[in-house]
Amino acid sequence: MDYHKEDSIIFLDGKFVSAKEASANLFSQTVHYGYGAFEGIRSYYTINGTKIFKPYEHFGRLINSCRLLNIPFDYSLEELTQISYQILEKNNLTHAYIRPLVMAGENMTLSTPQESSLMICAWEWDKYFNHREVAVCISSYQRPNPKSTKLEAKTCGHYVNSILASNEAHQRGFDEAIMLDANGFVAEGPGANFFYEKDGVLYTPPAANILPGITRQTVLEICREIEIPVKEKLFRPEELFEADNAFFCGTATEITAIDSIEGQKLNRPWKGSLCSIVQEAFKNMVLEKSHAYVIV
Ligand code: PMP
Repeated sequence: MDYHKEDSIIFLDGKFVSAKEASANLFSQTVHYGYGAFEGIRSYYTINGTKIFKPYEHFGRLINSCRLLNIPFDYSLEELTQISYQILEKNNLTHAYIRPLVMAGENMTLSTPQESSLMICAWEWDKYFNHREVAVCISSYQRPNPKSTKLEAKTCGHYVNSILASNEAHQRGFDEAIMLDANGFVAEGPGANFFYEKDGVLYTPPAANILPGITRQTVLEICREIEIPVKEKLFRPEELFEADNAFFCGTATEITAIDSIEGQKLNRPWKGSLCSIVQEAFKNMVLEKSHAYVIV
């Protein structure tokens, strides 16, 4: 993956600068303690031109993450969205991944940051749907205890936990991990939310011990709109072995079918499943095609 090229332009603290020449403060709490906030956002080349998917939702979460961490940050949703479109234009990008990062200023103590720095970059990300079905394991790493952090904030430090879980899954020969919460209920993937299908109903963990994803919210909206029954509930990993189908969803992940859990195949084919209908509807939505479906 090329995150930047010779001539890539990024936004840094009010200016558009060359990615090659941009620098960050090595004395920041973000570098040393992971005390920063970021977002992952996608743009797609749609039938209406290049469109950022749900920018206000993503930048709203970024603003909220900063608020929860007491990081000073005063950009508006409109400004952040406009800067992102400018970044896409300046770098000739259509299908892209946009990465805003708010770094705390120079401060090596554990006190509240007094200043922050905003970087927004973007890189090309292949068009929708090159996903293959993934083999997942149940991670030995739990998601962070919600009493030990602000779990609903997308903070840099949380991703130590995610990287450990992903690496463990890869070392065990799996594509990805499903992580449990501190009480042993299924929570989410290291960088995506989780749904499973059983007897015509979709299930997903409630927005308590997970990062409540914007894609997850979109899936819930799609289900409501096309009348697919969906329930938010806590469930144990054992229940997953009874599932008909399952998927991860997230900005980068989009909707990725799960093929097996701990080596056991899901019970029904993906094709024709409710999960596959949601996947297709999501694809049409991000590409701004009609996503109306009639279920017969
Ligand atoms: N959970 C975690 C831990 C994540 O990192 C992500 C990716 N941001 C998600 C869920 C999915 O969130 P979204 O749909 O907003 O990308």
